[in-house]
Amino acid sequence: MKFFVNSDCIGCGLCPSVCPEVFSMTDENVAQAVDAELTGQTAVLAQQAMEQCPVSAIEHS
Ligand code: SF4
Repeated sequence: MKFFVNSDCIGCGLCPSVCPEVFSMTDENVAQAVDAELTGQTAVLAQQAMEQCPVSAIEHS
């Protein structure tokens, strides 16, 4: 499972706080996801961040 942040991100900072292993904020204050296939607990946490994103800006493959 691979995660992406789309252009709807409003930079609320929630996803890096839920799953810092996968999400971080860029200099433009939007989130970015690591470019890697995720499994196990990391994928579960990333999915939780995705579900909590207030603007549904996180997608996954
Ligand atoms: S939770 Fe959503 S809106 Fe907030 S920083 Fe992450 S991707 Fe952006």
